[in-house]
Amino acid sequence: MATRETKLLQTGQLAQAAALLRAGKLVAIPTETVYGLAADALNPAAAAAIYAAKGRPSDNPLIVHVASVEEIPLLVRELPDALYRLAEAYWPGPMTVVLPKSERVPDETSGGLDTVAIRIPAHPVARELIRLAGTPLAAPSANLSGKPSPTCAQHCINDLSGRVDAILDGGPCGVGVESTVLTLCTNPPRILRPGAVTLEMLRKVLADIELDEAVFTHLADDQKAASPGMKYKHYAPKAKVVLVHGSSEQFRAFMADKQDAGALCFDEEEKGLCCRCVTYGNGQDAASQAQRLFDALRQLDTENFSLVYAHAAKEGGVGQAVYNRLLRAAGFEEIVLPVVEHGMPACVDL
Ligand code: AMP
Ligand code: MG
Repeated sequence: MATRETKLLQTGQLAQAAALLRAGKLVAIPTETVYGLAADALNPAAAAAIYAAKGRPSDNPLIVHVASVEEIPLLVRELPDALYRLAEAYWPGPMTVVLPKSERVPDETSGGLDTVAIRIPAHPVARELIRLAGTPLAAPSANLSGKPSPTCAQHCINDLSGRVDAILDGGPCGVGVESTVLTLCTNPPRILRPGAVTLEMLRKVLADIELDEAVFTHLADDQKAASPGMKYKHYAPKAKVVLVHGSSEQFRAFMADKQDAGALCFDEEEKGLCCRCVTYGNGQDAASQAQRLFDALRQLDTENFSLVYAHAAKEGGVGQAVYNRLLRAAGFEEIVLPVVEHGMPACVDL
C-alpha cells in the first residue's frame, strides 16, 4: 500500500484529528480499552481504508463508536428495551452491543454482515473526538492484524507508522483488553468476546445471557464464528506459547529445569524463577493483568524467545477476558500442573 505521512498528535489537537476524520482519513485514537484505528463509519471508502492499513480480513466487522445513545437509532433497525437497560448500566464503558444494522451503515463497516456492533467509550478524549467529528467512528484495535492490540501510542507507532494519517497520543489505556462484545441478535443474548464488563455484571441486567462456545474453545476450520474476529489468529507472539495452570509454587518447580525457555509470569514471581521473564501484573489482581497483558505479549517478541510458558491467572472478573486472550496467544495449548505432596510436580497434557 502507498505510504502515508503519519502525524503524531497530542490531546490538545483534537480539532485537527476531527478534521482529518471528517475528510475520510485514518486516525489512531485512545480509548479506555485499547487504542482504536478510527475512520468515519458512514463513509465506505474510509472504512475500507481501515482494513487495508491493518491488513485485516474484509469479513471481520468493525465496532462503531458513538458519543451518546441518541446517535444509535440512525445505525440500527431495532431498538430493543434491553439495549436501553444495558446502556443505563454500563455505558459509557467497555461494552459493545450487536444489533440489526440500518441501511446507513455501509457493508465495509459491518464486514458484509446484516448487523452492526456499537459502543460508547468511557475515554473522554474518544467521546469528545466523536462529537467534534460529527459522525460515528468505526474503530477496530489499532494494531496490524494478528498482533496484540495496542495499549499505548508507541504500540500504534510501531505497527502503523506510514500506514495511517495520524496517531493521537492519549497515554496508556486503563483497561488494557478490548471491550466485551454482546449480541442482542440471538435469543438468549450471547457474549461473543469477554471483556471488563463481565458475564456476572451483564446477568444483573439480562438474566438469561450465555457465553458463546468460541470464547473458550477452538472452533474447527469449517465452523462459522458468530463473531468473525474469533476465528482469526490473534495476539500470537513469534515464540511458541504454552499456557500453564497451577499455583506460583507449582509454576516455579515446573520452570526449574527449563532455563532455555522464557516465562510470562506475575510481577511477584519474577525473583523466584531462574529463566528470563516478562511480567504481566499482580497474580491477585486481574485488572492489573489486563492492563499489562498486551504490552507483555509484545515484549516477548523483542526478547526473541522461541518457547514461553505463560502462567495462567484465576478467572474471576476481567480475568476471564485475560484467559480468553492468553488462550489465543497460546494457540489453545495449555497444561494443568497436578498438585503433589512430595517432590516435583510432573506435568499433564490436556
Ligand atoms: P476489534 O475492534 O479489532 O477488537 O474487533 C472487533 C470485534 O468485534 C471482532 O472480534 C468482531 O468480530 C466483533 N464484531 C464487530 N461487529 C460485529 C458484528 N456485527 N457481529 C458480531 N461480531 C462483531
Ligand atoms: Mg482487534
